[in-house]
Amino acid sequence: MTRDEALALDAADALAPLRERFELPPGLIYLDGNSLGVLPKATAARVQQVVRDEWGHDLIRSWNSAGWIDLPQRIGDKIARLVGAGAGELVVADSTSVNLFKVLSAALAIARADDAQRRVIVSERSNFPTDLYIAESLAAQQGCTLRLADTPEQIPALLGSDTAVLMLTQVNYRTGRLHDMAALSRAAHEAGALAVWDLAHSAGALPVDLARDGADMAVGCGYKYLNGGPGAPAFVWVHPRHADRFWQPLAGWMGHAAPFEFTPGYRPAPGIARYLCGTPPVLSMAALECGVDTLLAAEPFGGMAALRAKSLALTRLFADEVSTRCPELALVSPTDDARRGSQVCFAHAELGYPVVQALIARGVIGDFRAPDVLRFGFTPLYTRFVDAFDAAVHLQQVLDSGEWRRPEFNRRHAVT
Ligand SMILES: *Cc1c(COP(=O)(O)O)cnc(C)c1O
Repeated sequence: MTRDEALALDAADALAPLRERFELPPGLIYLDGNSLGVLPKATAARVQQVVRDEWGHDLIRSWNSAGWIDLPQRIGDKIARLVGAGAGELVVADSTSVNLFKVLSAALAIARADDAQRRVIVSERSNFPTDLYIAESLAAQQGCTLRLADTPEQIPALLGSDTAVLMLTQVNYRTGRLHDMAALSRAAHEAGALAVWDLAHSAGALPVDLARDGADMAVGCGYKYLNGGPGAPAFVWVHPRHADRFWQPLAGWMGHAAPFEFTPGYRPAPGIARYLCGTPPVLSMAALECGVDTLLAAEPFGGMAALRAKSLALTRLFADEVSTRCPELALVSPTDDARRGSQVCFAHAELGYPVVQALIARGVIGDFRAPDVLRFGFTPLYTRFVDAFDAAVHLQQVLDSGEWRRPEFNRRHAVT
């Protein structure tokens, strides 16, 4: 492909106007929206309004007058539209890690209420570490064990009559591989287990259909493809057939049936509201709502299906260009569109970290995931075809020039 051909793809792109909704620093090629989404233009003014007017002027009255108390449900209903959940089935709360603890506890309790001999949580070794740590901790508390697949193909064979829960991240954070949610949820159910899905790299990145694909519970991240800002609150969904079956373990007052009756005993709220724990972080919620709105703005243009088509075209372009230009890098992400999320990763045994640092110095932002992965996320709301093309050229230049050898690119920062 030539640069002019990439520019022609942008000129023909019906989604291109959505980029105007973001504050993108000039000259920057940002391929890290899978780690921290770009700031929407609406966010600063909206947060300022919440601070100045709702907090500064209206103070405590804003819990009612500005609807602060309903934020977890209001934003939850918007996210539900992106992930195939119904209104009233999903809430925004806490972090992905904390929400995973809640749903995994519930899933274990529900599966084991039917059959106490089920003691195994199945996941994969390459799952995101926090997911494995939460599962490990919960398993230790409940006398259960964690069984890890070394490859995605192994997963069905690890499910059996001892399995309580299959817990997977739909798109692998390091390889970008996309699981078949429908097939794996079915396999879990056939074994008598529940299917818990982490949508950290799929909500807002590709069409997700939790109800159609048989998920029992799901969690997801607010600061990646939902553009909610650093540390944005996360979300949690529980299928309505399970939502009332269990007190999630963090039984806080916001999940109580009547928090303002101030009664000493816990009575869980009906449905998903019981998965709330404490007071919602209103400023962060305001920012998250602006981020989610940037995705809903794509609905007139074909919504998540249109975003997915563009994402696949972007990742295909970048994978092809880099594979041709940089033969020393090994493509880690699947070439099959049906198996790839919205990121492209390459491996190199020694120079992954300094190459990413040299790219960042050139204004091309990706990230490095130990031990050897160079990771590039593509956000079709704001990433252009010419960005994908130029990033591949920069990567080739960094490798060919050897500039990654410079000492400043070889010093490790705390966050990679
Ligand atoms: C980013 C990510 C998380 C983040 O969890 P936090 O609690 O927000 O730190 C969790 N799981 C997966 C799979 C992720 O990619």
